[in-house]
Amino acid sequence: MFGKYLKGIGAAAMSAAVLCSALTAFTPSTEDNTAVISASAAENLTIADLPEEYRDAADWIWNNRIVREQSTARHNTIFDQIVAGKGTINYVVRWQSYKTITYEQRKQFETLVSDSINAWTKWLVGYENWPYDHIDVKIVGWAVIDKNCLLDLHDDEVVYTNTEFYDSKNDTSNGYETIPDRLPNAPSELSRFDHFADMSYQYPGGLDKRFDMYLWATQGFPSIGGCGGDWGQRLSDDAYLNMLGGTGLHVLEHELGHGFGMTDFYGGEGELDGFPPGGFPGGENSLMMAGSAAKITDFDGWMLRYMWSHIKDEEGRFVIEAPIAPPTTEPSTDAPTVPVVPTEAVLTETFDDTIIEAGDGYTVFADHGRFSYNDNYYGPDESKNLANYEVGDVVSVTFSYKESSREIVSVDSLTLLENIRKEKGDVNLDGEIGVSDLVLLSDHLLGGKTFTEEQCFVADIIADGAVDVFDLTALRKMLIS
Ligand SMILES: [Zn+2]
Repeated sequence: MFGKYLKGIGAAAMSAAVLCSALTAFTPSTEDNTAVISASAAENLTIADLPEEYRDAADWIWNNRIVREQSTARHNTIFDQIVAGKGTINYVVRWQSYKTITYEQRKQFETLVSDSINAWTKWLVGYENWPYDHIDVKIVGWAVIDKNCLLDLHDDEVVYTNTEFYDSKNDTSNGYETIPDRLPNAPSELSRFDHFADMSYQYPGGLDKRFDMYLWATQGFPSIGGCGGDWGQRLSDDAYLNMLGGTGLHVLEHELGHGFGMTDFYGGEGELDGFPPGGFPGGENSLMMAGSAAKITDFDGWMLRYMWSHIKDEEGRFVIEAPIAPPTTEPSTDAPTVPVVPTEAVLTETFDDTIIEAGDGYTVFADHGRFSYNDNYYGPDESKNLANYEVGDVVSVTFSYKESSREIVSVDSLTLLENIRKEKGDVNLDGEIGVSDLVLLSDHLLGGKTFTEEQCFVADIIADGAVDVFDLTALRKMLIS
């Protein structure tokens, strides 16, 4: 299921992977998370305690990046995962590698993800009703290509060996290893990513058996750099193995930042994809600006708090079952109330002639913002599956979505108006120019085949507004050259 997301709008998903690889630019001398501990030791902090010099930058990032890109809109940020898991996060390690892992290393993986998650969440301790002092992070399974990679396997370890074909043609390679052509999967019914939109979903075996994210290790990836989202974090197998030795932890922490809804800062000052005017306050830059910091900076910690302040009261979003009561007033005799989750309003929308601008489990329709999608709703009609469309495609679409989460629940119609891949001569629109295009164009000219508007466009090779024998001659020349 996840693989489908990633490969569906392949170019978009993979370009993210390549972009994140810009982290290679940074070579840290040492890891230093001590500031994180001291800065988060305070109690009963609120957004009013945000350092004054941080305010403009935090507001700018929130309004111009996070809200505009809707990066906290999906109810599956790590904030959501932790609250739904009652203070826990469960992982499956997706070991897309043929390297062996000892039992000792597998135990260390759990410590690694626990430390990395808590390096972020310790900023929330004592802050605006965040209810957890520590997040209990567990690895609840290993999904592997080859079970023999798991040395000294214990009876109580959960191993998944289902794999699917994996096409790595869009991946960046480290140049000396082959990226495996198999992708291991854990069962979809245990995946929060596949079910978070349905708040009444019951995991087989109970909540403890679910997994929130994949820790995805790929052989053949460059050893630093990766990709992160609410589905998990993807780095090279070597990057993770080096982290077990204490090197490069900030790269995983950066990818986890994306899981909370933080954005990258690849663009210039004040730009749409850039960093706040005046730069990052506090003198430490930001872990989320690749190459500028090798730790969660004081500003980053405050930005995480700021994000929590802005999303925590969204109606129906966070159902906190055991809230920490504020200790300042007399203990109430009333039983703690559990917020009732209202039924979310579902709206229907039609966008005519809109460009798909982003992908990877969500889509952005130009001028209309970001919507997430699940791959269950289009039924057997693949033409309504957004995962089959690409960044740059122009479509007309009618769909229904949940108002607050902007999760698409059904696609009623989806028409491709312009294919990003369309290329003059590609008459059968298969992404390649070949003899079959010549045959089809010839059929068309002889009256045997009707063309769509799009086919007429690509068949008009000499671009004189008509499809005729001159185009056939031009196509023949293209094939010969
Ligand atoms: Zn990034």
